[in-house]
Amino acid sequence: MLDHLKTHFGFDAFRPLQEEIITAVLALQDTLVLMPTGGGKSLCYQLPALVFEGITLVVSPLIALMKDQVDALNGNGIAAEFFNSSQNTKDQQSVEEAVLAGKVKILYVAPERLALPGFRQFLSRLNVSLVAIDEAHCISEWGHDFRPEYRNLRDVRALFPQVPIIALTATATPQVREDIVTALALRHPRVFVSSFNRPNLHYRVRPKYNTFVSLLKLLEGYKDQSVIIYCFSRKDTEALADDLSHAGFGALPYHAGLAREKRTRVQEKFIRNEVKIIVATIAFGMGIDKSDVRLVVHMDLPKTMEAYYQETGRAGRDGLKSDCVLFYSIADRRKQDYFIDQIEDEDERDRARKKLRRVLEYCQHTGCRRRFLLEYFGEIYTTASCDACDNCVVPTADKPESVTMMQKILSAVLRTGERFGVGYICDVLRGSRNKRVLANKHDKLSVHGLLRDVPQEDIRGCISTLVRVGQLEKIDGDYPTLRVSKAGRQALKGEVVERGR
Ligand code: ADP
Ligand code: MG
Ligand code: ZN
Repeated sequence: MLDHLKTHFGFDAFRPLQEEIITAVLALQDTLVLMPTGGGKSLCYQLPALVFEGITLVVSPLIALMKDQVDALNGNGIAAEFFNSSQNTKDQQSVEEAVLAGKVKILYVAPERLALPGFRQFLSRLNVSLVAIDEAHCISEWGHDFRPEYRNLRDVRALFPQVPIIALTATATPQVREDIVTALALRHPRVFVSSFNRPNLHYRVRPKYNTFVSLLKLLEGYKDQSVIIYCFSRKDTEALADDLSHAGFGALPYHAGLAREKRTRVQEKFIRNEVKIIVATIAFGMGIDKSDVRLVVHMDLPKTMEAYYQETGRAGRDGLKSDCVLFYSIADRRKQDYFIDQIEDEDERDRARKKLRRVLEYCQHTGCRRRFLLEYFGEIYTTASCDACDNCVVPTADKPESVTMMQKILSAVLRTGERFGVGYICDVLRGSRNKRVLANKHDKLSVHGLLRDVPQEDIRGCISTLVRVGQLEKIDGDYPTLRVSKAGRQALKGEVVERGR
């Protein structure tokens, strides 16, 4: 196997799991492979394809990438061809002839082709040794990228009862895995899961408050480094790229509404380091491979955890420390809800809602964010602290805005006499003049209205953080009240404390 690896692919060693997977495939077992993008899934069917006597069929939805893959294989001296809608009849005929003459080892096909009776008949004349289903999550309605044409794959087993099947994907929750196994009728599949953990990525969620200023401060730390900023809408990307450029941070927008040439140009500039910051909708990143992206920012909520994992996954491909920062406000939920409401299919709408709920849970999560992410994908992460997410790192370490926000909250608790609960503290900080605030004359305090522009949810979030890290204590009772702990007083440092007392 190592010989094949070296002579046909030019690699010296297998990546994690490749050898085990290839061994199982060569033993004619059905396999399900879960490996992050860039992990080297293709090799798991390409190498066996060379060993098997017959032909290997590869089903892939990414028609645009098929030609590249085939060209790359041909470049390595491996006979590969593809069938998809981009070809004319003449091309297709010549591929057919080559395949029937046994001159082709690997044949890529688009999934919709499998529905055509003529094509099925053609397949029945072949000596197929292996069937590979790439991007297998597309078969599941629970996947983040369900493709109706993948329904055609449900017959693959019946078409090739004796042939081993290998299904591959980069993202599959336990539920999606089950769907894949059932839909493809895999027989006692060997399941290979390589870890989704990206230890060099640091995850942070910050309150969406004074966001542009926060963003500028954040970017100060990434001068001359490559950054991707994801926004919700095309309009947002253009506006933000403009604002950043005016603030002295050269940035270009990227979204699906731009002309193709324009998009290509933006990508190339980014790859060649002629522009360091791209402000994009999710359309950015597919198929680009820039290994030194140091920071990925989400200005808005991602739709799903799968999307978040994929988008943040574009940071730090070179293995060096990189940051993933998400600006969160519960108010952003409405934008997503609006789109979800427009989904016509009820089940699909339901799924979209559930997926969004998990994203909100992630944002509000007070435990290790890495663990949350990995558990979402069905992986068990037992390390107590990852030391690389905002909830594992002492939260005051590197969050200047929220440090001041925390200090404001602590002083509000002190100055109102540590007799009130979360709701009341929020009222005071947001400058409410309700009866209770007025009766207590708390509208006269200097802390009154200090966080006027911050959404209530974000102040509450910050209070829970303070409770969790032990700077605030919640005193139970009919009306739970907040008290500043010794650690909280220390955090506030002399000056503010004295004024408060
Ligand atoms: P995936 O499909 O899992 O995203 P690919 O199969 O496209 O990943 O492989 C990603 C990259 O890794 C490719 O450039 C491939 O050539 C390279 N690669 C795969 N296996 C190895 C290996 N054993 N040694 C070195 N590079 C490898
Ligand atoms: Mg792949
Ligand atoms: Zn953590």
